[in-house]
Amino acid sequence: MRILVTGGAGFIGSALIRHLINDTDHEVLNLDKLTYAGNLESLREVENHPRYRFLQADIGDQPAVSEALHSFQPDAIMHLAAESHVDRSIDGPAAFIQTNIVGTYALLEATRAYWSKLDEPRRQAFRFHHISTDEVYGDLHGADDLFTETTPYAPSSPYSASKAASDHLVRAWQRTYGLPVLLTNCSNNYGPYHFPEKLIPLVILNALDGKALPVYGNGQQVRDWLFVEDHARALLQVVTRGAVGETYNIGGHNEQKNLDVVHAICDLLDELQPRAAAGSYREQVTFVTDRPGHDLRYAIDASKIERELGWTPAETFPSGLRKTVRWYLDNLDWCRRVQDGSYQRERLGAPREQQA
Ligand code: NAD
Repeated sequence: MRILVTGGAGFIGSALIRHLINDTDHEVLNLDKLTYAGNLESLREVENHPRYRFLQADIGDQPAVSEALHSFQPDAIMHLAAESHVDRSIDGPAAFIQTNIVGTYALLEATRAYWSKLDEPRRQAFRFHHISTDEVYGDLHGADDLFTETTPYAPSSPYSASKAASDHLVRAWQRTYGLPVLLTNCSNNYGPYHFPEKLIPLVILNALDGKALPVYGNGQQVRDWLFVEDHARALLQVVTRGAVGETYNIGGHNEQKNLDVVHAICDLLDELQPRAAAGSYREQVTFVTDRPGHDLRYAIDASKIERELGWTPAETFPSGLRKTVRWYLDNLDWCRRVQDGSYQRERLGAPREQQA
């Protein structure tokens, strides 16, 4: 297949592209705007591969996307491009509305124009796979409740509301125009190449730097964690074998309280890279004011994708977290280049301060 991946320079998109290039014969066009979250250094190992190419473009730029579709002639689009950080959506929702809603709309329209002109066998085989989040379902209060594919939407943050809106648009483009779509809603991902503003890499790097380890509220919020490479394998299963029009929830069967995640990271670091000063990294934990509208608990029922497509996560939380901490310890250079902004300077050929 020829697969156009949007947002392929991000955390999950880059894991997906490494999987597609290293473990399959599919061809990939990575279409990414390279916002602060896009990092081509996460794709170093595949960047010169003959089945991989990159195009810097905004999904909201319909003429640019149309041109890419016509020259690349994809059999499938895997749409991951988004603004993805909840805290940023609270501070500045506009970019989330623009990319996640208006951008997805522009991408759908460019795709519809391209798809409607394909010959019948290719029209039938074409897939538009929209990658979304379990946060569209809101949060759970019963200890045993799980999100299923039919749980009503109740998003809490500007981020999750914008993703919910994009999910509705994608479904409408199937219902109204017949576009062959697939949707996936996934729980929190973690693993290598995760941008250091997110909880797990932030805690690892702050711990090593001797800084405070910030925990929102009382740290009792529950998240279902999935190792990013397990997510990439699930996405490939869905785009190649999923039934058109279906939604698949993807989760790791790994519910953890935020505070327990932070403690687990501290314990791994105590073992792998003990503090220069005596004592445990746990001593650096600091409780900070809770995020407004903070969801209490997310948990996914991933039995449909397991039953229908045979996907299950390979990593448990302890095994995946150990790999992740090890990866950060071995790749501090990648982290430092994100933290000091040099990953952006290099690709744009200008110091960060000079960028608009
Ligand atoms: P990310 O923020 O790491 O990466 C997003 C990528 O999209 C970046 O490379 C960025 O440059 C690109 N991008 C942003 N705006 C763009 C635009 N207008 N045009 C083209 N490219 C643009 O995000 P991620 O964590 O890899 O998440 C990828 C997708 O998966 C998102 O749609 C997100 O909602 C969804 N998701 C994420 C998680 C998670 O835990 N990270 C969980 C479930 C679902």
